[in-house]
Amino acid sequence: MKIFAVTFAALLPVAAIAQDTANQAPDRTWITDVNIISPEKLGHIEKGSVLIERGRIVSVERRNEAKKPVGATVVSGEGQFLIPGLIDSHVHLASIPGMRPEVSFGQAEDKSPMIKQYFQQLPRSYLYFGYTTLIDLAVVDQRVLDDFREAPLHPDLSDCGQSLPFANGYPMSFAPPAMRFKLFPNFIYDLKQASNIPSEYKPHDHIPAAAVAKVKNSGGICVKTYFERGFAGDRNLPVMGPDVLAAIRRAATQAGLALMMHANSFEAQKFAVAGDVDVIAHGMWNWGDLEKRPGLPPEITRLLDRVVQKKVGYQATIQVLGGLSAYFDPEYLKTKSIPKVIPADMLEWFNSSEGKWFKKELAVDGEADAAMLEKFDQGPLRRVREVVAYLAAKDANLLLGTDTPSAPTYGNLPGLNGYLEMQQLQKAGLSLKQIFRAATINNAREFRLDSQLGTIERGKTANLVLLKKSPLESVDAYDSIVTVWVHGRPISRDSLAANSSK
Ligand SMILES: [Zn+2]
Repeated sequence: MKIFAVTFAALLPVAAIAQDTANQAPDRTWITDVNIISPEKLGHIEKGSVLIERGRIVSVERRNEAKKPVGATVVSGEGQFLIPGLIDSHVHLASIPGMRPEVSFGQAEDKSPMIKQYFQQLPRSYLYFGYTTLIDLAVVDQRVLDDFREAPLHPDLSDCGQSLPFANGYPMSFAPPAMRFKLFPNFIYDLKQASNIPSEYKPHDHIPAAAVAKVKNSGGICVKTYFERGFAGDRNLPVMGPDVLAAIRRAATQAGLALMMHANSFEAQKFAVAGDVDVIAHGMWNWGDLEKRPGLPPEITRLLDRVVQKKVGYQATIQVLGGLSAYFDPEYLKTKSIPKVIPADMLEWFNSSEGKWFKKELAVDGEADAAMLEKFDQGPLRRVREVVAYLAAKDANLLLGTDTPSAPTYGNLPGLNGYLEMQQLQKAGLSLKQIFRAATINNAREFRLDSQLGTIERGKTANLVLLKKSPLESVDAYDSIVTVWVHGRPISRDSLAANSSK
């Protein structure tokens, strides 16, 4: 074992150099004769040319007579559309769709080849749907993120470091008491619960300032916390009070980190807005007592008006619900792009009765699939659509974030889920321009990445996507990708598919 490690380490630098050369982007690429669609210039779309040098955009010409720069590789975009690389600001890379969390912690030996293939394909699947930047909101397994960043082809990845659950609250409550503090070591201490917190954890290491500092030191760009009283079998979970949130807010501001809160109920979003969070990480589909009333109650619209006014970033994450209802939709696993984003063995497993285990947890006794679908559609999906329609009409600061995967569901697959979320957003009332901005500049601004990303402008990173159709004419344009550039390196879409011959 020791010998192997030494040999491997000795080989590593050579291998790394060889791979670097193979992966190098061309020095100069000129994408010409293309319709340039960039969020800062949506008023007048023009044909033009974009010159890329060493991974950056060095010029953007919106004239037809521009001359070919010396020594450039020419890519004709005639009849096609060039957009900035897409950004999904809510993913969980370590969680495997369709699998129990404990499986991903290595307890199912027979699944490990399938899991390995899944993780190899993961970065490529995001690129397959044009996602060149991701933000992971809660690091539970650093190794997964490290591997992702070391993959030969991968989107840029930022993260919020280890998240800040309230002691014994959501989501650490899902893990058995003996494991939850190890999985969520950056929890916020609660003196009232001292008897339910292992003694090796000291209160002063778990005050908001210490927890935020830990995120900052790990290189995180955001802080993720939660307000969730629970659902299904877990209700009445402990939640933080306004004083704790205020302390997290102060520390995040001082550290220059965006503050994100998991909140999907009226109560939770009210708490989040009052506490001045930067981003609400879910749509509001739980209305509590207000659910009994028809339409969108004024208590909710008043809160949404504040979301608009304070420019709170709002991730609708409608696919959280879409991903659950997928188990009752006989067409879902037949979606034509599923074999492009997950390995064939995994799809076969999803189609087996064992692979549908999660359906049993979601199903209501005696209800037919069609009735379950209807329940989702007329219940939480209807409510979140009403909320999102209201926000869209007021041009709120909507951010594309999918929460992939939000549960152990096969209804949230990497890359594809962003495309499905866009369809959900359109159904909920966003215009195509709003969807486009949500997936580009709005995300870039909210996470302070806009000096490098989010538009096609001189000086920015050459993360670009070439489409056959215009995303301002139909949402399926996002499934008409020809080429994706990551730091100036062109990758054909076909070569990114899980079933490609590579
Ligand atoms: Zn999430």
